[in-house]
Amino acid sequence: MQNKNSLSRIDKRIATDEATPDLTIRQSIIEILKGRMLSARDISREAHIKEKDVLEHLPHIARTITGSRSKFEKKRFVVEPSRCLSCGFVFKKRDRLKTPSKCPSCRSEEITETRFGIAEG
Ligand SMILES: [Zn+2]
Repeated sequence: MQNKNSLSRIDKRIATDEATPDLTIRQSIIEILKGRMLSARDISREAHIKEKDVLEHLPHIARTITGSRSKFEKKRFVVEPSRCLSCGFVFKKRDRLKTPSKCPSCRSEEITETRFGIAEG
């Protein structure tokens, strides 16, 4: 009986981990972003996932934060747009989370990384 119990406990743990990998990753990204501003590269380093995956998770996280006021009370998903260091052009388009490679105004490639954070209030 003892053996049976411990086995089923292990099975349960494995099943839970496999069932919600995305949710777990999103939760940890939310924790990483609380009260900070980080680029997708920073997040990928801290969450141990690819930068490309970070960019896929971020829109879902933004929706979670904005959508459920009761669960994430007084929290906002913040996007700090990229800026051209050469001419000051700001990439304000909100649907583009990826840092642009070139400035459309002066063609400079010196562009700050788009940064993300979760702010209180
Ligand atoms: Zn520029």
